[in-house]
Amino acid sequence: MKIRRISAYQADLPLVEGPYNWSGGNTVTVFDSTIVRIDTDEGLSGYGEVCPLGPAYLPAYAAGARTGIAEIGPALLGLDPRALGPLNEAMDASLKGHPYVKSPIDVACWDILGQAAGLPLCEMLGGRYGDDFVLYRAISQETPERMAELVSTHRAAGYTRFQLKVGSDVATDIQRIRFASEVVGDGDRLIADANTGWLMHDAMRVVRAVRDLDVYIEQPCASYEECLSIRRRTDHPFVLDESIDSIRALLRANGDRAMDVINLKISKLGGLTKAKQVRDLCVSLGIGMTIEDTWGGDFTTAAIAHLAHSTPPRALFTSTDFNSYVTVSTARNPPLREGGRLAAPTGPGLGLQPDPAILGEPVLVID
Ligand code: MG
Repeated sequence: MKIRRISAYQADLPLVEGPYNWSGGNTVTVFDSTIVRIDTDEGLSGYGEVCPLGPAYLPAYAAGARTGIAEIGPALLGLDPRALGPLNEAMDASLKGHPYVKSPIDVACWDILGQAAGLPLCEMLGGRYGDDFVLYRAISQETPERMAELVSTHRAAGYTRFQLKVGSDVATDIQRIRFASEVVGDGDRLIADANTGWLMHDAMRVVRAVRDLDVYIEQPCASYEECLSIRRRTDHPFVLDESIDSIRALLRANGDRAMDVINLKISKLGGLTKAKQVRDLCVSLGIGMTIEDTWGGDFTTAAIAHLAHSTPPRALFTSTDFNSYVTVSTARNPPLREGGRLAAPTGPGLGLQPDPAILGEPVLVID
């Protein structure tokens, strides 16, 4: 089987709740997503999606994804999409770095591999654990009162884990955490994600001020070293996200005992092939995981669901259903949450049927 054509579609994904705000005054109202389609000479087609959280979150941006795909696509024509090892070697040989560019291509090839095998991806990624898995809800940075209200609303819809977007001024962030902690229930989990937004002295003031609360602290500062400094001065459970962008970063952080949980984003690592390596290492090392991506619609949500559903529940801290945050559906049979839980699709591969009316004409074709 050979890759015959690589196409990319662009999709605007507006948000159900309006602007999504996070640290540093960053905000996104409409996500710019890229969906890759790979066609083979044997009639199978696979899909993958990449959707950066705007251009100011990681070294990744939406137009860059499409430019990067145009750069490496010609080197992939003629390769067997089922041979994920050689495929990833070829991508890394033709473009250094840029994991987010490679992620949708890797996922589309996994989709083809699953279809060829007649198996859903979660079966090929380790096997399905139970009926479904647990989700969190991201709470956009708003006033402390509004954020507590949003936690209550989503709690009523079945969510039990809430990630508060903090990382602005210290006094308001402390209130955000305090107000939200008053509306969560026993057994719920609360995460304060600063998205690199605090300097070390800010982070120290926040963790001391909320020391009596059961809250996880996620990526308080910009660099790994700053985060490690806070980690060593707090007894809150600690999550690293932006700093864990490779296996090398994970192994270093594990050696330093720098976190209890990582946030594993598929496109940050370069696709399912590398995300599975990191996932399996974390299971063996006893590191909890939030399994997700930077953002996306149905295709991203399906890829996340297959990786999360094939992760031992003891190691899966939480996951996410990005397609419930956006108003546009790019597949006809999207995975949909029930309460605060989601299941991976049961069809072969990603198990999604794309909606051609929504995808429209490709913005890029390599053949
Ligand atoms: Mg995070």
